[in-house]
Amino acid sequence: MIVLVDTLCSVAFYCQRCGQIEIADVPVFSGHGDVVLTCSHCGAEKARLRLVPRKGLVIETGCVVCGQRNRVHYPLRQLRTMTLEKIYCEKDHFELGYIGKWQALAEFLDFNAAEYDALHPHDAYNFMEHQQILLEAFNRVHDLAEEGELFCPCGGHEFTADIAEDAIHLECTRCGSSAVIPAKTPDDLKQLQPGCEVAFLRPDLIRNR
Ligand SMILES: [Zn+2]
Ligand SMILES: [Zn+2]
Ligand SMILES: [Zn+2]
Repeated sequence: MIVLVDTLCSVAFYCQRCGQIEIADVPVFSGHGDVVLTCSHCGAEKARLRLVPRKGLVIETGCVVCGQRNRVHYPLRQLRTMTLEKIYCEKDHFELGYIGKWQALAEFLDFNAAEYDALHPHDAYNFMEHQQILLEAFNRVHDLAEEGELFCPCGGHEFTADIAEDAIHLECTRCGSSAVIPAKTPDDLKQLQPGCEVAFLRPDLIRNR
């Protein structure tokens, strides 16, 4: 019997816009163009994949933490035997997604959800929802800043932002004041609207705490 292989592997990426994660098959490439994976939830581009001679499968993704394009590649030989691997941003090690066999990815995502629930029994949200809220919060903060809706008491409106475990850290580029914006629950997300109050702390006060 001849089995026609029509998928190279499967991938699951967190949408860097809304945080949604879903598994997608990577088809065996028939042409030269890129395969573009988009988020079924918000339509944002999640990843671009292409086959490059001698390199194998090249995957390009964005990363909200460093704001840069991230590129990883997997030799075809490795893809055939691979069960599951995590894909990280090479600059900041932010977890971007997973690659491997569909079944393994599905089990891993289920397991992750169950494991998160076990570790956080009082938390109504699992790891995926957690990552999703974090990413969405980060993008909302970014949008608010861009629309001029976020202000530091010094009058500054340019910030550097960092993703922490369940919060977004902002720092005013003008005076160095910083703010911690919780990004853990859907309620935290609802707070992030034009005109929302963000409590900035001056650097000298932070040091004295
Ligand atoms: Zn999305
Ligand atoms: Zn990054
Ligand atoms: Zn400031």
